[in-house]
Amino acid sequence: MKRYYFDANATTPLAKVVCRFLRISDRCGNPASLHGHGRMARRALESARGKVADLLSCRPDEVIFNSGATEGNNTVLASAWETRAPGRDAIVVSAVEHDSVMRPLERLARRGAVIRQVPVRPDGSLDEQDFARAVDDKTALVSMMLANNETGFVFPIQRLAAVASKTGALFHVDAACALGKIPVSFSQLGVDFLTGSGHKFYGPLGTGFILKKQGVPFEPLLTGGTQERGQRAGTVNAPGMEGLALALEYALEGLSSEITRQENLRRQWLHGLKTLKPDLTVHESAHQLSGTLNVAFPGISNELLTAALDLEGVSVSTGSACHSGAGESSRILLAMGISKEEADSTIRISFGKMTTEKEVAGALTCFKKVLARM
Ligand code: PMP
Repeated sequence: MKRYYFDANATTPLAKVVCRFLRISDRCGNPASLHGHGRMARRALESARGKVADLLSCRPDEVIFNSGATEGNNTVLASAWETRAPGRDAIVVSAVEHDSVMRPLERLARRGAVIRQVPVRPDGSLDEQDFARAVDDKTALVSMMLANNETGFVFPIQRLAAVASKTGALFHVDAACALGKIPVSFSQLGVDFLTGSGHKFYGPLGTGFILKKQGVPFEPLLTGGTQERGQRAGTVNAPGMEGLALALEYALEGLSSEITRQENLRRQWLHGLKTLKPDLTVHESAHQLSGTLNVAFPGISNELLTAALDLEGVSVSTGSACHSGAGESSRILLAMGISKEEADSTIRISFGKMTTEKEVAGALTCFKKVLARM
């Protein structure tokens, strides 16, 4: 059976250039070792760091390699809490952050942190006046995502960061779902921390980074080694980071024409789906990722729909992969004011650079069969 992959926001396929590199790379050597093999591994690691820095407009010494955005988000939150100035006990987030931000925050709340959640409107936008009221001289950190993994909605981080910086609060952006999909410049965003995962932009699973602005106070989460300038202990997955850097380069090459191409694929999807189910509701925003579709099929359970599609060979999801199978309604859609009934009939279709028109057409044919049965 032909399978169609439309869950790129959960993880993207590996770029061919990364597959080839990982297959042929037989480099041996711990980048922290002083001998020749170690020095070679170190050179490769530093070259990957330089490439990431170039591609994201930051300095190489602002890149801290790690295992991905979950580790990055946990690290940044814990660090900002540990290093906060006296009296700065508030942390500001949007109501639709990823669980790798929300769960660590619950822990910090038990230690006395005051969590302020800025609500989000049904179109996914954030009231910037609400935001400005939430951030003040008691705020240690603002943590907001650049693009939402369920809806693809993009927050105006540069503007929000400018507001926050006037109060002296640190700003963290979770860019896991945005990197490789929209242009991202660390220096232009004006944030203090940015976190990302390689496997969201065609790189290897288990690779990622924190970008940390020079001079910003930092407390490592993992200790016990001097790797990454003492900021993240543990032997660095050097070939993985080389793969990550190659993947980022692949993802960003020709990005603007790729965005247009994906907008066309999105239109193809929507046209096809509306023909099959005219009463569907699309959750979309004026600022959103072109490769993410969040669609409600009234009267149809999203769990049954995704299972039926899977049997036909189409992989889509009911929301965040980190929560699949939990049988819960999407926290993100509920926070946007969408009813539970509608949230429970919503699926996410996400795709990327390797997706073709032919695949969209093939997946739509499977949809037709499944919807006819339901
Ligand atoms: N933040 C966002 C916005 C995400 O989409 C994800 C992955 N779903 C993460 C953080 C966590 O990334 P990882 O699972 O790669 O650690």
